[in-house]
Amino acid sequence: MPRIYITTPIYYVNGDPHLGSAYTMLITDTLARYYRARGWETFYLTGTDEHGDKIAQAAAEAGMSPKELTDRVSTAFRAAWDTCDITYDHFIRTTDPYHIRYVQELLTKVYETGDIFFDRYSGLYCVGCERFYTQKELRDGKCPDHLTEPKLIEEENYFFRMSKYQERLLRHIEAHPDFIRPEGFKNEVVAMLREPLGDLCISRPKSRLTWGIEIPFDQRYVTYVWFDALINYLSALKYKGEDVFTKFWPEAQHFIGKDILKPHGVFWPTMLMAAGLPLYKHLNVHGFWTVEGQKMSKSLGNVISPLAMKEKIGLDAFRYFLLRESVFGQDADFREESLTARYNADLANNLGNLVNRTLAMQERYFKGVVQPLSDPVPELDQRLAATFAQAATEVEHHVANLALSRALEAIFRATDQANKYITETAPFTLVKDPASLPRVGAVLHNLLEALRVAAQLLSPFLPDACAKIFALLNLPAEQIRAYDLPWGKAFVPGHAVQKPQPLFPRLV
Ligand SMILES: [Zn+2]
Repeated sequence: MPRIYITTPIYYVNGDPHLGSAYTMLITDTLARYYRARGWETFYLTGTDEHGDKIAQAAAEAGMSPKELTDRVSTAFRAAWDTCDITYDHFIRTTDPYHIRYVQELLTKVYETGDIFFDRYSGLYCVGCERFYTQKELRDGKCPDHLTEPKLIEEENYFFRMSKYQERLLRHIEAHPDFIRPEGFKNEVVAMLREPLGDLCISRPKSRLTWGIEIPFDQRYVTYVWFDALINYLSALKYKGEDVFTKFWPEAQHFIGKDILKPHGVFWPTMLMAAGLPLYKHLNVHGFWTVEGQKMSKSLGNVISPLAMKEKIGLDAFRYFLLRESVFGQDADFREESLTARYNADLANNLGNLVNRTLAMQERYFKGVVQPLSDPVPELDQRLAATFAQAATEVEHHVANLALSRALEAIFRATDQANKYITETAPFTLVKDPASLPRVGAVLHNLLEALRVAAQLLSPFLPDACAKIFALLNLPAEQIRAYDLPWGKAFVPGHAVQKPQPLFPRLV
């Protein structure tokens, strides 16, 4: 049985779920649903990242302990994803005891091999980023992300011998060109690996920070938050059992935003090498969303909340827009106007209309009872069936390449053809002649098949709407899952479908 292990970043609990994190969740949830529906063994992980300076600071500012803050925010994240019907298999918190134990186990292992060493270090440290910067990485002496001057810090710390694995990682990427996707991000990582890499400071003295995982071989230190956080992808599987780990780890596909490319593209694979573990299969990197052309920010008041969008237009419409309007790996722009246009054109006019017209005619002409197909099968009917078979093939190809917008395009091209089929066959005219009634029944039967296949193909993308379509078609669950059921075999003549119900009322 084919397998896939899908991970999201674990969200840092000093913020709220917003458009950016919701986008990663919707992509990964769609893929998890897609592979599950096709019988793949699937493990889908998300969670929260809860250690480090920023959490300690935010907690102090809010007048609570870091534990209280992380409990509260982690619960809020989880509740938000639950409200959005995200079908994760496990939610990890880096404060979970099993994670802490595994991080310590791994640190000990790497320490014993000699790839972690103790050294004096002085460097420029940005608190916002929780990392040291080299002069070269700064812009006008300031952190390029926070535009603040980093502090000069001198201290003794533990270091991971990352440079030792630089060449090996470079060779791995050359041998596996789709290790990091899309290609532009692979090239960025290759460029990083062509520069001297240096070693990675992986500890923080407790005199400065106590909110972290204690270094198992030196109680005076806690673990650098990134070294701790990345290990969640392993510890969650280990927690589920050694067999789960063995099955899923080699099939790991990480999904991240482009801002965390370096930790995932450089730190993480070298850490895995040092731990003697296989590397992940793919690192899939997506772009950022702007809102009406501007960067999203609290101060601009343009933050898009997935929960508010659910209230406003429904989850499916929100999912559809984000997945249809973006190309994986590129930046995209959230515009109210394009959202309305997309919704009305594709969901209301194309799909919604097809459902409505088909079921309304089925009800009016045959009281909802399905009629036999035409025999022999006319060319128009054959062409409609072929259109949907073609869409299914295209969806498979595009999803494997993370081209979700193109997969959706292919499906909506097919439903558009089905709407044209109504015009071409004109059942509403034929029905006036009693001798043509069998043909009208056959045309509607073909349209019901079109709805069934469309709903099957669309259900990972639009789970709610497709569940409604299946309920209207009155089909049992096995039929929904039967991807290889041939055209014309789903509805037995005599089967009754439901009266139409509006799925996507037009937005104005
Ligand atoms: Zn910074």
